[in-house]
Amino acid sequence: MSDVIQLLPDHIANQIAAGEVVQRPASVVKELLENAIDAGAGSIKLVVVDSGRTLIQVIDNGKGMSTTDARLCFERHATSKIKKADDLFNISTKGFRGEALASIAAVAQVTLKTKRESEELGTVINIEGSKITKHEPVATEKGTSIAVKNLFFNIPARRNFLKSDSVEMRHINDEFQRVALTHPDISFSMFQNQVEVFNLKKGNLRQRIVAVLGKKSNEKLVPISEEIEQATIEGYVFKPEFAKKKQPDQFFFVNNRFIKSAYLNHAVSGAYEGMIQPGCRPGYLLYLTVPQNTIDINIHPTKTEIKFEDEHTLYAVIRAAVKHSLGLYNVAPVLDFDKDPALEVPYSYKSKLPNNPRINVDPTFNPFKNEQQSQRQKSFHNVGYSPSANKLSQQEKSNWESMYAEIKASAADLEKSQPKQASLDFEIARDFKPFQIHQKYMVAELKNGLMYVHQNRAQQRIIYEQLLKRITHDETMSQQLLFPKEIHLQKTDIQIIKDLTVDIERIGFTFGNFYDESVELVGIPVNMEESLSQEFFEDVVANAKQDIPQGIENVEIIAKRLAFSMAIKTGAKLSTEEQEKLLKQLFECEEPSIDPSGKKTFIPISMKEIDHLFN
Ligand code: ADP
Ligand code: MG
Repeated sequence: MSDVIQLLPDHIANQIAAGEVVQRPASVVKELLENAIDAGAGSIKLVVVDSGRTLIQVIDNGKGMSTTDARLCFERHATSKIKKADDLFNISTKGFRGEALASIAAVAQVTLKTKRESEELGTVINIEGSKITKHEPVATEKGTSIAVKNLFFNIPARRNFLKSDSVEMRHINDEFQRVALTHPDISFSMFQNQVEVFNLKKGNLRQRIVAVLGKKSNEKLVPISEEIEQATIEGYVFKPEFAKKKQPDQFFFVNNRFIKSAYLNHAVSGAYEGMIQPGCRPGYLLYLTVPQNTIDINIHPTKTEIKFEDEHTLYAVIRAAVKHSLGLYNVAPVLDFDKDPALEVPYSYKSKLPNNPRINVDPTFNPFKNEQQSQRQKSFHNVGYSPSANKLSQQEKSNWESMYAEIKASAADLEKSQPKQASLDFEIARDFKPFQIHQKYMVAELKNGLMYVHQNRAQQRIIYEQLLKRITHDETMSQQLLFPKEIHLQKTDIQIIKDLTVDIERIGFTFGNFYDESVELVGIPVNMEESLSQEFFEDVVANAKQDIPQGIENVEIIAKRLAFSMAIKTGAKLSTEEQEKLLKQLFECEEPSIDPSGKKTFIPISMKEIDHLFN
């Protein structure tokens, strides 16, 4: 039999590589801008037509390329930025992999014009789908212009996958701003469909920030400057009163690279504790400089994560530096207000009107009549999005509401006399230990009856509210995994996860590389077991494919899925202490009576009802 293995032709290999580097027009913008900076440009112009679908062009006045280099730069692994493996640990340029231009040229029609200062004539190259169609001398200015036309012209599936113009443009804007905010010493302009949307002159950092974020931002900024052995931190934070609920301006740059870090974000937010309304998030632009060899940037080119050698120290320093500055500029004491407990509820409940429980007991109520049906509801895949499906009947509702109201009322009374004690656990008879039946329900005695608690749903409720509170207060905590965990999904499902990245990260996951049919997790929410993550992502994908009713935020749905994954399953044995803790936590919830999908978590039965059953 003949041999079957062959090397992939370059243009196919490049196309495959492009899948990772060029995800959308914004990726091209990022790569071209970074190349212009690496080339030492003092002035950079970005031109975008149709959100990058038709044209992305970057023109710089940097050092340009020789005619040979102009040809070579489109080869894979062609770079002028590293020569030996050691260089990897001391990278001062933005790029170093030598794959951006090769990837872009594999999936678009590219025209490169470039000239070095010392040369009379420059070079023009046309390349499309990795094939050179022109390579000639040309009269042109010093520097480089790269025009990328009709992105994904040869991969219709990718082209069709692009999002709306406004979404793609938002991504391009983000990339442009991130680059502009790190190089105030370079002038930038940006044209969108022939209109100049940015014209940023050279200046100092503060001037650049104000030019990018708008004139009004000037009065909001508080400077930060802190130096320790391991790092320097420069930049600005926003005064607490300008904290925002939606999309605050939050930028972390490490050695002039934009990065995302839920962990360091938490450090900043923590410094604002007590100064901003719960649910609001502070704005900041923080520039960290650390020795190049203490970070690992050799991760995915399109990703913005970074690995630090000593994350804990950085966390502490950032938090202290922000606190220090807020105090120094005297913004803190003015805004120190008592927390309003009414604002502490998870945001999804804020809009809800308070329930007025009715106190009309129906003695004929039979708590068991719906149980068989709900026991059979094993498939949770589409729970929670049909608000009416699992609603209690009016009669049932008034019944448990009334009993619950009684529980609350007498608990409140008790609390008045013993203010230090927690509330509802009194009502669960103290000398009575809860017990489990069939490792599915717990039974607890109430002062005026008893109640059955669905252990799994109860815990879902508890975890769900904990997650929402953390998100609302921007305290999302992620635990780093020792080794990245790979989650396997179908190709199209990876895109779904990509689209939800921001929301999933708010819950506490951190992503590593995205591959065609898998995605790497480098961090998961605290308290979550790693082994649950595959199932969780499958659930998220399954849910995302369903129509989500308006008004529900992705992050809520994801929190629901996570609560579902993390909750103890039916069949788990619980110690008495565990049961007591669960009951206590449940009744500390804002909405203890239903699980995140709207199904009952407990059923109270009054002595009257029990008596009635014996009649
Ligand atoms: P990398 O930036 O990782 O080296 P790229 O594919 O982005 O890889 O670029 C390949 C090479 O082409 C660079 O190393 C650089 O030598 C050259 N190059 C790219 N863009 C420019 C530019 N705007 N000006 C001068 N040289 C450039
Ligand atoms: Mg590059």
